Amino acid sequence: MNKRGLILVISGFSGVGKGTIVRRLMEKYENYALSVSVTTRPPREGEVHGKDYFFISEEEFSAMEKEGRLMEWAGYVGRHYGTPRDYVFRRLDEGKDMILEIEVQGALQVKEKYPEAVLVFVAPPGAAVLKERLLGRGTESIEQVEKRLLRAVEEAEAMEVYEYLLVNDELETCVEELHRLMQCEHRRTNRNRELMEDIKLDLKRFVEGEQ
Ligand code: ADP
Ligand code: 5GP
Repeated sequence: MNKRGLILVISGFSGVGKGTIVRRLMEKYENYALSVSVTTRPPREGEVHGKDYFFISEEEFSAMEKEGRLMEWAGYVGRHYGTPRDYVFRRLDEGKDMILEIEVQGALQVKEKYPEAVLVFVAPPGAAVLKERLLGRGTESIEQVEKRLLRAVEEAEAMEVYEYLLVNDELETCVEELHRLMQCEHRRTNRNRELMEDIKLDLKRFVEGEQ
């Protein structure tokens, strides 16, 4: 099996359950690690600097971007978000599958720069459920919820860019599906060139030894 981890990009409408899915996936399986993004939005109640996000100023953000320290970045509802590069690559080298929970513009940049990444879009079982989840989370004002729903209409246009579509109806089912599809991705022949060479060599040597 390929030893290097895979980049897993997860996008989906705000409130669809991305964070919940990722937390559960990491509770159940050890081979995943989460990229912690930088953002210029203020922390929500209970969010921890360095765990949920690195909360930074617009000036710090633009310095990181200029210095090429972000793998990708985007504006979202008036704020900036980006993925610090070094941490992701260090963990990939350690063999972790790195989860980037990012929005559509960022996902497009990742796909362009790192075509080997796996792109997954998470949809809700229905629009009404999405609004319920956003409101149920209780972290945004009603105006913010309305803005996020409008943004969802735009984001829906980009679903086709992704390789996989998951529907987050029942949480455990969705998490299992995601884990299974990552296991399949690891087994793609184009990710296992070294192993294929080893198999060929092993066979050749064995057959030669038999003669
Ligand atoms: P996102 O990270 O996509 O913005 P969250 O993970 O914060 O979304 O989830 C939004 C809300 O929906 C949370 O209150 C969460 O508990 C709830 N939720 C997530 N997945 C499910 C699910 N499968 N069934 C019911 N509620 C869910
Ligand atoms: P939230 O404010 O709800 O935490 O995140 C808003 C949106 O920004 C979500 O769609 C989330 O996936 C996305 N996001 C979070 N971090 C990043 C990032 O580093 N890059 C990009 N492009 N989007 C991000």
